Amino acid sequence: MSGAEFGYQCRDCARSLALDQPVFRCGCGGLLDLAPFPVDLTAAARLEERSLFRYAAALPFRAGTAPWREVSMGEWLTPLVPLDPRRPEVLVKLDYAMPTLSFKDRGAAVLVTQAKAMGVRRIVQDSSGNAGASVAAYAARAGIGCEIYVPEATSARKIAQIAACGAAVKVVPGSREDTAAAALEAAGRPGAFYASHVYNPLFHQGVKTYVFELFEALGRMPETLFVPVGNGTLLLGVQLGLRDLGALGHIHRFPRVVAVQAEGCAPIHQAWTRGKVVVEPVPNEGTAAEGIAIAAPARGAQILAAIRELGGEVVVAPEAGIGPAKEALAARGFFVETTTAATYSAFLAAGGAAAFPGTVVLPLCGAGLKSL
Ligand SMILES: *Cc1c(COP(=O)(O)O)cnc(C)c1O
Ligand SMILES: [Zn+2]
Repeated sequence: MSGAEFGYQCRDCARSLALDQPVFRCGCGGLLDLAPFPVDLTAAARLEERSLFRYAAALPFRAGTAPWREVSMGEWLTPLVPLDPRRPEVLVKLDYAMPTLSFKDRGAAVLVTQAKAMGVRRIVQDSSGNAGASVAAYAARAGIGCEIYVPEATSARKIAQIAACGAAVKVVPGSREDTAAAALEAAGRPGAFYASHVYNPLFHQGVKTYVFELFEALGRMPETLFVPVGNGTLLLGVQLGLRDLGALGHIHRFPRVVAVQAEGCAPIHQAWTRGKVVVEPVPNEGTAAEGIAIAAPARGAQILAAIRELGGEVVVAPEAGIGPAKEALAARGFFVETTTAATYSAFLAAGGAAAFPGTVVLPLCGAGLKSL
């Protein structure tokens, strides 16, 4: 993966950095993206591989190499099914059917593959739970030491999942932002690799396979994609995937992308409705959707730009609707974590199927057993 054809690129000063450096930010302080690279999504380019690495020709891997072999846990092709069998136009994609029970495995598989290829011995990461569980599991599989920082409000079950994989769990008092600060400090110590789903753009590369799978399953893009947004892991992955499909001529316009925030913590929604290009932090007023409660998203401006590029919109999941939405999903057999119910709550509050003509896809990002 560390070939000359792939590299990081600073969003602020456009400087290029080699992929095989343990960096997470440019020297100027800017956030890193991956420099654009050619992708191939033809059937011929797809590998005989029972994992998302079947799309390796659209990921930053040199052809003929397979560095994921000792890392992948067979994460791939999650089910795409009607929410209600009598209403085939509203589909749910069961990304909770991933190895660690959330879609974060898409990004962690790619990022930990790179860490392993670089000979990293110790990974540091912070998350409100699912990204930590993913990175901990993939680090365990790759034989890399792992330290995960989580806010004190993290569900006990997510902490148990992280610890069970052998990672050192550091519970940080205070907010999600306090946790991020503690992880940043630890990441700065010698020998640590900051495997952040927020800062490291390789994570977003893995997440874009969500879009490839949709396209492959349907043979086209659905009219509307709902996307929960906190730090933008899924949203920025969706943007990359849609760009790739566009560049290859598979789609000629973007689907309607509806970004979802929780009512109790909605800085992106606030900035969007005020027409801003940067995101002002908001106080977290408390939300049942802990997984997307990001009061000061590091990639806020990039998230707003992505929504603008895609011609998308931002809606809010009413807090009062999240519990009932979780029950309604479970009543159809889909037992999701509370954060994931916010997406369905937002869909219903925005008018449901009647408000979104054509096919709508709601991602079910995390499993119910994570947050009883
Ligand atoms: C990570 C995650 C999201 C998306 O959150 P971001 O902060 O935007 O990455 C949504 N739902 C669940 C269950 C998650 O784990
Ligand atoms: Zn820079």
